[in-house]
Amino acid sequence: MQLKGSCSCQAVRFQVESAQPYPFNLCYCSICRKTAGSGGYAINLGARADTFEVQGREHLRIYQAVIDGETSSVQRHFCGQCGSAVWIDDDRWPDLVHPFASAIDTPLPKPPERSHMMLNSKAPWVELRAEPGDVCFEEYPDESLAEWHERHGLTS
Ligand SMILES: [Zn+2]
Repeated sequence: MQLKGSCSCQAVRFQVESAQPYPFNLCYCSICRKTAGSGGYAINLGARADTFEVQGREHLRIYQAVIDGETSSVQRHFCGQCGSAVWIDDDRWPDLVHPFASAIDTPLPKPPERSHMMLNSKAPWVELRAEPGDVCFEEYPDESLAEWHERHGLTS
């Protein structure tokens, strides 16, 4: 499906084709929750880099976290005017772009089940609300965004 998204102040707008639009993957890592998830986690979607169109690129800033002394390959794009987290890029997966679900204006489909990842970094005050069928991971999940969509018959 086509996704349209924007930052809060609308200086940055984008559209992209996504085959992984279900917001099922909750990441509790300290970087996600500090930069994009005051509820304790952030959610990224999977979308096709070759269809990605951006307006207002000049307003973008990029944050690459330093983890154990090494700069992460994950490029966290945010609006320099309003601070909204908008998407993640990673050189390891150049065909993909990962918009934050919070930046999407198109109504997203509700996921039938969720994944909870990086729970070893979860803030102590955050209640893990796993429903029956949800899967939980101390670190990275054992399936990709695409594999999750395939397992649930939600490929487009
Ligand atoms: Zn903005």
